[in-house]
Amino acid sequence: MEQYIVSARKYRPATFSSVVGQDALTSTLKNAIATGRLAHAYLFCGSRGVGKTSCARIFAKTINCTNRTPDGEACNECDSCRAFNSGASMNIVELDAASNNGVDDMRQLIDQVQVPPTQAKYRVFIIDEVHMLSAAAFNAFLKTLEEPPRFVVFILATTEKHKIIPTILSRCQIYDFNRITVSDMVSHLGRVAAAEGITAEPAALNVIARQADGAMRDALSIFDQVAASSRGNITYQSTIENLNVLDSAYYVRLVDAFTAQDIPAALTVFHEIRRKGFDSHFFINGLGAHLRDLMMASNPATLQLLDLPDDVRQTLAQQASKLKPEFLYDAMGICNETDLNYRTSSNKQLLVELALIRIAQLLNPSPRKSGQGEGSLKPIQPAPAKATAAPAPSSAAPTGIAQTSSPSPASPMAQEPAQTYRPAQPQHPVTNAADPGAVPPPRRKEATVLRVGVTGNDTGRPQRPAPASAATMTRTPAELTVEMVRQAWTEFANSLPAAQNVLKSELLKLTPEKVNDRWTVVSDNTVVATMLTQSADLIAAGVRQRLSCPDFNYELEIHEGELPPRYWSQQRVLEHLLEKDSFRDFYNKMKLSLI
Ligand SMILES: [Zn+2]
Repeated sequence: MEQYIVSARKYRPATFSSVVGQDALTSTLKNAIATGRLAHAYLFCGSRGVGKTSCARIFAKTINCTNRTPDGEACNECDSCRAFNSGASMNIVELDAASNNGVDDMRQLIDQVQVPPTQAKYRVFIIDEVHMLSAAAFNAFLKTLEEPPRFVVFILATTEKHKIIPTILSRCQIYDFNRITVSDMVSHLGRVAAAEGITAEPAALNVIARQADGAMRDALSIFDQVAASSRGNITYQSTIENLNVLDSAYYVRLVDAFTAQDIPAALTVFHEIRRKGFDSHFFINGLGAHLRDLMMASNPATLQLLDLPDDVRQTLAQQASKLKPEFLYDAMGICNETDLNYRTSSNKQLLVELALIRIAQLLNPSPRKSGQGEGSLKPIQPAPAKATAAPAPSSAAPTGIAQTSSPSPASPMAQEPAQTYRPAQPQHPVTNAADPGAVPPPRRKEATVLRVGVTGNDTGRPQRPAPASAATMTRTPAELTVEMVRQAWTEFANSLPAAQNVLKSELLKLTPEKVNDRWTVVSDNTVVATMLTQSADLIAAGVRQRLSCPDFNYELEIHEGELPPRYWSQQRVLEHLLEKDSFRDFYNKMKLSLI
């Protein structure tokens, strides 16, 4: 059976021209060799897997080749080349400074340097990871590095140039290796695949190249891994499954959902990704990277900088053309914030979901940006007195709401205008109380301190007469005492059916107060406040009935000093959840379900 050799070794470049992605550098080296202008020390800098050691070996072989080809490559046929290729050459010495970094190791090396080459012109010393040498080893080495025997060439290689002391740097010719671009890798992998008799989709090779992050050696290792499981046919699908790579199509779908302000769709994509076993942190960073690619793709000048195949670039450019730069900046900011908060977050899934919700709302013309309603008491306008026009009760259900604006939103996620909600001024409170189903959809507010529930008769207009059919309800608001109102409030709360136990318990925690001739209920909890707002008509009707006072009204003041939950920051939501332990309430409000 033929011995299996990993591709990274099997396809290790043997000539300068086969080194991937370092064309300028290799041609400079070839020129130096051809013209005989050799330095005695070189420093090869660059990240791992970019070909530093390969180039050093090719360099060592080529300067000793007795029969170089016209284009300056080693012949691979002379005695010296054959010795190099079989690994038997005495004229190349490799030292790994990571494991041989002491003074003694360096002294041994210095002793070897004095030995002249056998059957060749030069001896080449390759010191890998040279930044790992101890300071003492560096000092021991300096003298030799400066004045080596004429037959010695040093090639120092490092991934961390900044750790090399200046006295070494100044004695070397420095070559900076590029990171290998994705397209260079893809074409090299294509050649390797062809040589191995494997068919490979370019998209699959692109995924492999991106995974390798600039290192050819890694790309070849990943290629071997994928090839081993794909039986001679590397497809995009098999590659993303094998490497557990997130298909970029998910991100494209996600951004489509953002553009459509479709929060459920965005959350659905996220949960699909989670179900496939992807980590949420990985996901949010991938989303950030995709948004960054979109930003680059939105301008023809920066589109060229994207190291991607042309078809992928075009897809990105198409999606980017539908987006405003502001959206991309804000969305990237949210991803970045989520990334930073991820480690400390106690509910990471929620953190990511909130980020998605916030991004999906970026395209909303949010009232937050109107500059209204924040940080001040929102003035409340008296309700129009249309209910008083008909003194006799009619057959129409008394559900008139003093509202003036837009139709009900289809979903609580949908954009709502800033609006003040007021309970109806009933013509027939008893009927109203018996008809809680007529409670209108709630209106949310954006003010930090809100008042809800002022209507009708406190605007200076004369009191209207009580409706004839409600002859027993003869009290005017002026006759009410604090005790009466509190008692009616409590009685009403206690009269609520079991299905409304939550509302009941919240009502019982609140105490109506009389402030400047207005009845006020203060809540410091926006969640409770929202619930009370939703039930405002029901509450008003029930209390009116018990007070025998059809003109009783109250205001709900929210003293949370902050925005409604819909506009909370991630941090605030988490704080709230930690304090109140009401995850489910929040999810219900957001019309989400815990998964
Ligand atoms: Zn040769």
